[in-house]
Amino acid sequence: MHPQTLKKLREWFKKNAAELPWRPADLDAPRDPYAVWISETMLQQTQVSTVRDYFIRWMKRFPDVETLAAAEESEVFRYWQGLGYYSRARNILKTARIVVNSHKDCLAPCKGVRNDESKTTLPTTRKELEALPGIGAYTAGAILSLAYHEREAILDGNLVRIFSRIYALDFLPSESKVAAETYWNYARKIADSPKAYMHNEALMELGRTVCKVKNPDCAGCPLQSACRAATENRTAEYPPSKKHIQKDWHGTVLVIESADHKILAVHGGQKFFKNQFTLPHFESPRNATAGIPAQAEVYINADQVSHVQNIGKFRHGITVHKIECDVLHIQINKKAPTKTAPEIRWIQRELAQEFFANSFCLKALALLKP
Ligand code: SF4
Repeated sequence: MHPQTLKKLREWFKKNAAELPWRPADLDAPRDPYAVWISETMLQQTQVSTVRDYFIRWMKRFPDVETLAAAEESEVFRYWQGLGYYSRARNILKTARIVVNSHKDCLAPCKGVRNDESKTTLPTTRKELEALPGIGAYTAGAILSLAYHEREAILDGNLVRIFSRIYALDFLPSESKVAAETYWNYARKIADSPKAYMHNEALMELGRTVCKVKNPDCAGCPLQSACRAATENRTAEYPPSKKHIQKDWHGTVLVIESADHKILAVHGGQKFFKNQFTLPHFESPRNATAGIPAQAEVYINADQVSHVQNIGKFRHGITVHKIECDVLHIQINKKAPTKTAPEIRWIQRELAQEFFANSFCLKALALLKP
């Protein structure tokens, strides 16, 4: 996200941050990691309005990890009663006891446990946090970012919705490892900025109050100018509902070669690789490659074509798409033009492997005869 967009986001957050019992008035102040852990665990699958009173009562009775570790399970459950998902409460207690025991056992300097004036608190690395019961990637990120101000990524349902809309991602992170990694990469880019803790929290708040599941308030959103879904008036399409996710995609890739052995590369207007040069490709039924497809005539005249051949097919995976493509080699009887539009380039055949730096194109080019 552009620094100017992040600045707008911070300004919006400073004006609109709700008063919450786990949020100090000074939004730049580091937080108590214990309070972050408890509030974020309570907030999983529970509304903020419900969690507010539970959190206040909890912190009065169990103000720190030592008090919690010493409590009986039955009492911890009583303070959790009504929030549901009791495994969360059980895991909180287990983790509190592990953390307190590690603190007792360790010798100074304490490895993995922050020993602050002999007060026990939570580990300070993602690896150690995620090894504790009930602490997953999201909660670990929240503790590291909001409490310790580390440049750590957070990805919850709110951020997924926002990223899906801003970058027009037509898949969900739950669909595959690659899909999850795509979302986490966007989250890491947010985290790789000064005041990442504020950007993370502001995005969570924005998702809760502005970029809502239904009827997002784009007019009041600080990210509007950077948001593809809003710009294209397609917010209802993102994130996709599971039933609309496309799994299989069959297409045709065009390797168009000039008489002086240059390969056509195009930028934009393609299904995949929207932000880089790629080989032209389009959705098509299986084996429908007889003749010169109309899509090729966007770039060349049919009367320039000297030879057309289906040189084979390849399989590939991009995010949630399981792709199978026929590759059509189209040779033309003219040299590549020296002047072209900015979205068109002709690449010398022997340099094509280097130029098309994605395996989708490389698989297509590998089918060319030497
Ligand atoms: S502009 Fe609209 S859709 Fe885009 S992030 Fe903001 S509220 Fe969400």
